[in-house]
Amino acid sequence: MSNLEKTLSIIKPDAVERNLDQEIKNIFLNNDFKIIKEKKIQLEKSDAEKFYKVHETKPFYNDLCAYLSSGPIVVMILEKENAVLSNRELMGATNPKEAKEGTIRKKYGVSIDKNSVHGSDSPENAKIEIEFFFKD
Ligand code: UDP
Ligand code: MG
Repeated sequence: MSNLEKTLSIIKPDAVERNLDQEIKNIFLNNDFKIIKEKKIQLEKSDAEKFYKVHETKPFYNDLCAYLSSGPIVVMILEKENAVLSNRELMGATNPKEAKEGTIRKKYGVSIDKNSVHGSDSPENAKIEIEFFFKD
């Protein structure tokens, strides 16, 4: 049965800084994702704190929010059959050292914090994250 989904993807500051945004967008397009909307923005730290609120009790929360707001990011709505899971597979593991060959994080990730991309982890969170960045 068909299950066309949308998910939120972010190209994080480490990748935008290395001018990898077009290359990463091409990977999505070559893997049958449609880019429905996209924008390049820089977050205030307070916005990053809202976005990553689920992680507020984690030891890495402050550094994570400082990092996500440290430079421009590219935020995209991606659409595909089973987009959430498909994007998580294409991204690879959170730690680039553990990411499989051929994944975005394996290819471009620098470290567990500078891991180049974000992707929603469930259809429910995809809706919340899309609404966070694209309320209209
Ligand atoms: N992160 C980190 N240190 C850790 C775990 C996570 O800096 O020990 C960062 C990393 O950039 C990750 C983000 O926090 O992408 C959110 O963590 P999550 O567990 O949700 O990983 P993801 O869903 O991005 O794979
Ligand atoms: Mg996550």
